[in-house]
Amino acid sequence: MSNYSFFEGVEKNFDKAAKHTDLPSGLLEQIKGCNAVFRMNFPIKRGNDIEVIEAYRVQHSNHRSPTKGGIRYSQGVNQDEVMALAALMTYKCAVVDVPFGGAKGGVKINAREYSEEELEKITRRYASELVRKNFIGPGMDVPAPDYGTGPREMAWIMDTYAALNSGEIDAAGCVTGKPVSQNGIQGRTEATGRGVYYAVREACNHEEDMNALGLTTGLKGKTMVIQGLGNVGSFTGKISQDEGDVKIIGVAEYEGSIYKEDGLDIHALLDFRAKTGSIVGFPGSTTLEHRSSALELECDILVPAALENQINEGNAADIKAKIIVEAANGPVTPEAEEVLLAKGCLIIPDMYANAGGVTVSYFEWLKNLSHMRFGRMQKRFESNRYELLVDLVLKMTGKELNAGERKLLTFGADEVDLVRSGLEETMINAYNGIRNTWKAKPEIKDLRTAAFVYAIEKIGSDYTALGIWP
Ligand code: GLU
Repeated sequence: MSNYSFFEGVEKNFDKAAKHTDLPSGLLEQIKGCNAVFRMNFPIKRGNDIEVIEAYRVQHSNHRSPTKGGIRYSQGVNQDEVMALAALMTYKCAVVDVPFGGAKGGVKINAREYSEEELEKITRRYASELVRKNFIGPGMDVPAPDYGTGPREMAWIMDTYAALNSGEIDAAGCVTGKPVSQNGIQGRTEATGRGVYYAVREACNHEEDMNALGLTTGLKGKTMVIQGLGNVGSFTGKISQDEGDVKIIGVAEYEGSIYKEDGLDIHALLDFRAKTGSIVGFPGSTTLEHRSSALELECDILVPAALENQINEGNAADIKAKIIVEAANGPVTPEAEEVLLAKGCLIIPDMYANAGGVTVSYFEWLKNLSHMRFGRMQKRFESNRYELLVDLVLKMTGKELNAGERKLLTFGADEVDLVRSGLEETMINAYNGIRNTWKAKPEIKDLRTAAFVYAIEKIGSDYTALGIWP
């Protein structure tokens, strides 16, 4: 395991990058630390017993408001982990120009051991604690899903917040990742995985970088191994296979690791797992020795999409992938990163690679605050514009269209198109912002350091402009 705690690891990466900025040390300290840590214990009733639940919410930086970040339900939750994840949210938002500070929440439970009714009680009580201490609100702090939570929990949080803040018109903006029917936005569930896909696609489009790795330019035909088939891993796999023509040759999950040289069909694998409860035994695949063995397969792209510290001193030397895309937060420890960089590996860092989730959360929050359905306004606008254009072209060419052809030509963008195009644009721009920082300074050797420099400079300039109160 690592010599550092998760938060210390983030601080270490920060310090490594801070050397490449001109910011004064006091300002760097101001950026680096967590601004507020709320640790709570609350009881719930389980049958005739009382169980005390440990939970957290950490706000890392208030250079922008609200603060933003998911809520994790996991047995491994502790203060250090939530602090590290909150800090990563700050840098993540800065990298993709989403105007939020970073935050994170965690509830120390194994969600699988509780009934739906118990989970609702825990979630609502947790949300009410956040309300009591001003750790939630559309302009204050806006949670979202993370490991072990999803749209269902977000709906409970919104409802609890609304019940305790009767009449607040923007209540729906207190949390993102809600069900589409409950003030959510289309495309939020797939957003992190889709963002990972855009990230790796953009990285593979840079010929110079691919040459350095001995790879061809472009994503098509590249081999991929995925660790973790939760929300992020499964969408990354599906979209990479369907839209990027990637060959998924290995998958690692809790129950085991599998391999198939000519590629696994990710849709069939997900169906198989939903039916049998396991990836092991998937027709045509070979089961590997250990549950993390797939990480060590020879491949072009490795996607750790589970939890932190998965690639560490213990296995870094055995990793053979050329590109590692950090779909999870903190999957590569600082020690492992040294080993991988020395081998020439390209590591696309978490704070950029998995920023698709918070990017689309931002769109959802904007939708909630504007009280507008994106699709309706945009569709009418686009279709009016296109209709004028079509009429003009027809007039000029003297041609006529039948009703079907006309509909096809004048059809405007709907919500899902808007979300996807906004996400795609965001991921492409951010990659190039990071890459330009990397290429501009020869002393910066890796993309993580470049991403940190890119983020720290933006946050530093915000704090400087804000000044210090009083
Ligand atoms: N939990 C996700 C993350 O780690 C999403 C955060 C959000 O949408 O606020 O980025």
